[in-house]
Amino acid sequence: MTINYSQLDYFQNLTANDIPDDANDWLASLSSATVIDFIQEDKYPWRVVVTLLHGNEPSGFFALHQLIKQDGFKQLKVNVRFILGSIEAAKYMEQEHQGPFSHRYLPGGMDLNRCFGSSSLSQYFLRAQMLASSIRQVKPEAIIDLHNTSGSSPAFTVSCHPKRDYLKLAGLFSDVMIVSHIRLGALMEQQFNCPVITVECGGAKQERSHEIAMKGLSLFLSQQECNAQTQNIEIIYQPMRLKLSTDQNIVIGDTAEDSTIALRQDIEALNHHENANGCIIGWATEESFKHLFIENSGQTSHVPDYFVLQDNKIVCHRDVRIFMATQKTDIVKNDCLFYFADIKPPQPQSSLRHSSVEI
Ligand SMILES: [Zn+2]
Repeated sequence: MTINYSQLDYFQNLTANDIPDDANDWLASLSSATVIDFIQEDKYPWRVVVTLLHGNEPSGFFALHQLIKQDGFKQLKVNVRFILGSIEAAKYMEQEHQGPFSHRYLPGGMDLNRCFGSSSLSQYFLRAQMLASSIRQVKPEAIIDLHNTSGSSPAFTVSCHPKRDYLKLAGLFSDVMIVSHIRLGALMEQQFNCPVITVECGGAKQERSHEIAMKGLSLFLSQQECNAQTQNIEIIYQPMRLKLSTDQNIVIGDTAEDSTIALRQDIEALNHHENANGCIIGWATEESFKHLFIENSGQTSHVPDYFVLQDNKIVCHRDVRIFMATQKTDIVKNDCLFYFADIKPPQPQSSLRHSSVEI
């Protein structure tokens, strides 16, 4: 598939009659990265919603389709810019029966949400720059970037700051916010002079995720103060990523054969555990276990501090919360096995890593 990385299609004030009844049909009618403005009055502030940076994460797109169909943009007291990032990947079907929303990015392509903040003007970096420019163009007062987890998961939000206005945005969607120090080239890491959060609405195939996107988005758009929501938000600091060296193979299964690592079949169940201490992650041999490592943004973290090998089982032996575990081996190989974070301060005198704040 040929991609025009500099193409940004534009629509304004779409109404129910302008788009097909079926969200998939609407997607099929789009051809490139797309900006859609809903403009009420010039004097109103702008808010920005980004979605489909990953082609297989449709909750934000479904919510937008539903809002247009319900005339949900009438009588708002804000102007809203929607940005749809990876239309080509969302549309891409390897086989007819596969359906849309099955690819995070195109085969042979790059993960667009790892391409922000670069000065490169090539391909996906150029697209990321164009999307960031179209956000800055309207000087928004808040930005929401809607995603789904690859595996089944409850909703949570991620940001780079535990600031009050970020937390209040997060509270529109979930009562858990991860404050990440890892820098990957994601949109939420960029400076926009306003709060920006990533919302993981839950699993891409869970109906509940689409409902969370719709409800949170409706609140985000309708509230005059975009961060008027108050509730108890649990904050989890300093997530780490469990990764596998690139030459190592990984399978989903119940035993470790030869030198492979096997992830347990129901690995996604760990996304729902409050504490993964004592849980089996999968199976490995002495040799293959050495190919696991922890990415912690320049800080040294050792696998044995968190995971040990017992009778070829990889067992978590520390109080941690696991996020974004997935059975999709391509994501496991190319991104990470999962994210995890301490749920207790490692030393009593250290700064809070896990806390709950009333906002
Ligand atoms: Zn995503």
